[in-house]
Amino acid sequence: MKQATQAVHTGVYIDQSYNSVTTPIYPSSTYYFDKLGSHKGYDYSRTANPTRSALAKNLAALENGTHAQITATGMAAVTACMMLFKPGDHIIVGQDVYGGTYRLINDVFQSMGYVISFVDMRDINQVKDQIRPTTRALWIETPSNPLLNLVDIAQLTQLGKAHQLISIVDNTFLSPYFQQPLELGADIVVHSTTKYINGHSDVVGGTVITRDAEIGKQLAFIVNATGIACSPFDAFLVLRGVKTLPLRMEAHQKNAMALAEFLEGHKKVKQVYYPGLPTHPQHALAQKQMRGFGGMLSFDADLDHVDLDTLFAKLALFHLAESLGGVESLIEQPWSMSHASMSEEARIKAGITPATVRIAVGIEDTQDLIVDLKQALD
Ligand SMILES: *Cc1c(COP(=O)(O)O)cnc(C)c1O
Repeated sequence: MKQATQAVHTGVYIDQSYNSVTTPIYPSSTYYFDKLGSHKGYDYSRTANPTRSALAKNLAALENGTHAQITATGMAAVTACMMLFKPGDHIIVGQDVYGGTYRLINDVFQSMGYVISFVDMRDINQVKDQIRPTTRALWIETPSNPLLNLVDIAQLTQLGKAHQLISIVDNTFLSPYFQQPLELGADIVVHSTTKYINGHSDVVGGTVITRDAEIGKQLAFIVNATGIACSPFDAFLVLRGVKTLPLRMEAHQKNAMALAEFLEGHKKVKQVYYPGLPTHPQHALAQKQMRGFGGMLSFDADLDHVDLDTLFAKLALFHLAESLGGVESLIEQPWSMSHASMSEEARIKAGITPATVRIAVGIEDTQDLIVDLKQALD
């Protein structure tokens, strides 16, 4: 089955009582046994829940994986992955990963004794130079946030395999519709389903997907032991949202491409970051490993001629907000908002300045978005 079919059908039909075409929400915390040692697959909802299992099947299929855990947030998914390792283990992490991931790894896991190297993964030699006997994993995020830098997943996972490292890819920015890291050699894929997978800005959630049975078993153990699985109500919402993922991603991308081209030609814009532009330094890599360029773009405003507060106030269709992946367009300044949890030094090292503006392009009419952005910039 193709993804558009999987998104609509996989895992969905679990109601044998009434043949409901949507997945029922099972809020029950516990399930009774038929007799000692015998139940219908569920005993307690922290461990497993039918609504959550339906979503897990669906998302695993979309990533061509076999095992998925559904977590309460994207950060819970990242946490589950990090708990595969222990103090003393060394993990190599991309220098411009999502701000919350950076904070969790840098401030929580590092202080627990994990050894972390943040490197620019665009340069494979920087990664190679960091590999040591205690290295256990590569943490990859591509495209990166907010500057849409890419790293070559196939090249990195190949390097990882040669050194028995677990390669983990945060695929939130593209969704499985535009990029399938397991196909490129990754061992684990992570998503904040809060973003494109749910797509309607009405739930926070996450998932961790693998096709390695042993890793899948460990992740199930961690999610149950730590109690970070999502509620059945949230699983229901994400399962409803994901059915339109392919349609929405096409619409996000069409709008993002048009806005990127418009911004590139605007005199108050210094630089546009969008992997779909031929001027993106890694456009060739984008065409190689991605099936689409996604709905996120950033640009550097010319602060001599643009006051960001005025720009944001004049926009009617782009709301000043963090997050991304919903149907509505959002705009923000990573410096003071999404990436404020990084130190100033780390932000500058990653190329983020006060002039950087990030847009999460929604699925509104293309022309309406361009007209709005044009009047605000002008
Ligand atoms: C939002 C996000 C996360 C964290 O997800 P939450 O659902 O907010 O906990 C992780 N990675 C990326 C790339 C994200 O955009």
